[in-house]
Amino acid sequence: MVEATANNPLLEPWTGPFEAPPFERLSPEHFMPAFEKALTENRAEIDAIAANPEPPSFENTIAALERSGQALDRVSSVFFNLAGADTNDALEAIERDIAPILSRHRSETYLNEALFQRVEALQAQSATLGLNAEQARVLERYHIAFVRNGGGLPPDSKARLAAIGERLATLGTQFGQNVLADEKAYMLVLEGPDDLAGLPESLVAAAAGTAADRGLPGKHVITLARSSIELFLQFSARRDLREKAFRAWASRGESGGATDNRAIAGEMVQLRAERAKLLGYETFAHFRLADRMAKTPEAVRDLLQSVWTPARARALREEEALQTMVVAEGGNFTVAPWDWRYYAEKRRKAEFDLDESETKPYLQLDKLIEAVFYVANRLFGLSSSERKDVPLYHRDARSWTVTRADGSPVALFIGDYFARPSKHSGAWMSSFRDQQKLDGEVLPIVVNVLNFAKAPEGEACLLSFDDARTLFHEFGHGLHGMLSNVTYPLISGTSVAQDFVEFPSQLYEHWLEQPEILRKFAVHHLTGEPMPEALLQKVLAARQFNQGFATVEYTASALVDLDLHLDPDPQNIDILGFEKQALEKIGMPQTIVMRHRTPHFQHIFSGDGYSSGYYSYLWSEILDADGFDAFEEHGDIFDPATARKLHDYVYSAGYSRDPEEAYKGFRGRAPTPAALLRKRGLVET
Ligand SMILES: [Zn+2]
Repeated sequence: MVEATANNPLLEPWTGPFEAPPFERLSPEHFMPAFEKALTENRAEIDAIAANPEPPSFENTIAALERSGQALDRVSSVFFNLAGADTNDALEAIERDIAPILSRHRSETYLNEALFQRVEALQAQSATLGLNAEQARVLERYHIAFVRNGGGLPPDSKARLAAIGERLATLGTQFGQNVLADEKAYMLVLEGPDDLAGLPESLVAAAAGTAADRGLPGKHVITLARSSIELFLQFSARRDLREKAFRAWASRGESGGATDNRAIAGEMVQLRAERAKLLGYETFAHFRLADRMAKTPEAVRDLLQSVWTPARARALREEEALQTMVVAEGGNFTVAPWDWRYYAEKRRKAEFDLDESETKPYLQLDKLIEAVFYVANRLFGLSSSERKDVPLYHRDARSWTVTRADGSPVALFIGDYFARPSKHSGAWMSSFRDQQKLDGEVLPIVVNVLNFAKAPEGEACLLSFDDARTLFHEFGHGLHGMLSNVTYPLISGTSVAQDFVEFPSQLYEHWLEQPEILRKFAVHHLTGEPMPEALLQKVLAARQFNQGFATVEYTASALVDLDLHLDPDPQNIDILGFEKQALEKIGMPQTIVMRHRTPHFQHIFSGDGYSSGYYSYLWSEILDADGFDAFEEHGDIFDPATARKLHDYVYSAGYSRDPEEAYKGFRGRAPTPAALLRKRGLVET
């Protein structure tokens, strides 16, 4: 252990290109000793701040807290990025060990009474401390964080909160690892040409590549990665195989074996309810939402319900249309969840003359990466250049330096685009270092992790339109991290309210759908020809196609998440029974399954992230739909004045303002939900 500390790249200054982590020198055994050293160091810093004999000042308390824990931040960010994007047995074991230790450390900080008293005293005199706006905001956020973590509570409540935190950290880690294990364990092996019936060439090629990677050269393998399974369900003419694959996908986390998540989810819901009660809230949802833009569970339910009713009606009409197609084909069965995507695809072809395999050759990953940078250039004057000199953690990851118009560097951007067994499913943005300038400018290192099916060697990686949208989405988050321009780390970049954080990312998706962008970047991977105008118009015309299904799939998950966390006393909750009941209550169509069923609902159980917060995407959609209108009202999707406000109030502002205020600063008024309903096609116009 001594040796590992003495010669540990995690604890040395990083002097390579962009001062990026020295990935090429890292191995799993470096993490535990580095964590231990960083934790000890941070503990001493916190104790010194709490025990300072001087009366509390912003500088000796808040700024000192902001300056503390730098080694811990560095080690944690490298570790958790790897644990998400390129894990292995050794990292998983460390993750299980470190999660409760980090939770305990966090509790010790927030439950430190002397420290809380200093923050409390400062907040009480905030107006007379001569703070600038950002400092006042940082102090307020610290005060809120201390109170919401149990500052000021009696010792026995504090002890219980700390124990709950530790247990939740352990359970959340296990939950995510179990989902990954179930996904890794499953392969649908397609044996001969019959098994490939209906599949487009690009999927066949990707499935062949996956098979080769998994040691089955010459065969074809479909995995539970969204980019693999969804396409399979969309195109496979083999109803039996669709059913088989769909059942495996929908039942991740309920295998009944060592990776079963039902009891874990139940215990987490129960512990969260207890935590909320200790903190003086009726339920966990009340606790969670009090510090969100939405503020109350009622506001969230109102929004979800206002979308649910028209979306459900629309989904039932869609279902009818699919059933008609089944019958017309001579099918003697009722549409089942594994049929929906297949017949929807046929219907898209019939009604819009649009076939997804027709658009795919025009949606190349490399060109769309150019497109996300192009939009950033037009909006914010950013340029990018790919680097080959930065060592990264996986050979598939790529990096770019992003610079402003005057050539000054903004950030290092890492793109890690392909699915692999060592990567958790989903798509996310994260960072290896956050922007701040407390003691000189620190430039961020931002990463986008996606799960696209990798094309065989030498071939272009082709995306579905949904994949392309995800690429823009995550890059929108990425810009929120890269353009951050604040002094204090606490409020840097994407550290904003959960129901605001999807605004910059979802807003960015709008540019993908602009003819100007598609004409430029949707070019055929073999011929280089732009997408034919007729096809482009069909793509745009079909945007609201199947939106009943998509909205129902999503909103059902958001409602179950809300209900689970609105139970004031969920003792021994039977997760699947609860889910079933909640879905019956809202009249869930039999043919649609929640986008994330409870036993693999990683947003809300793999860590704390979106618990009682899955509604955030829809909440933010009010903002993005209304916000994009600001550009359209000016008749220019890159209108410079609007882009400037967007930059100043949103992308560069971190959490320096209340989200409502930030939005109004950008838009000149509060948001209205009209644009959201129009965008989803949920109002008759
Ligand atoms: Zn997002």
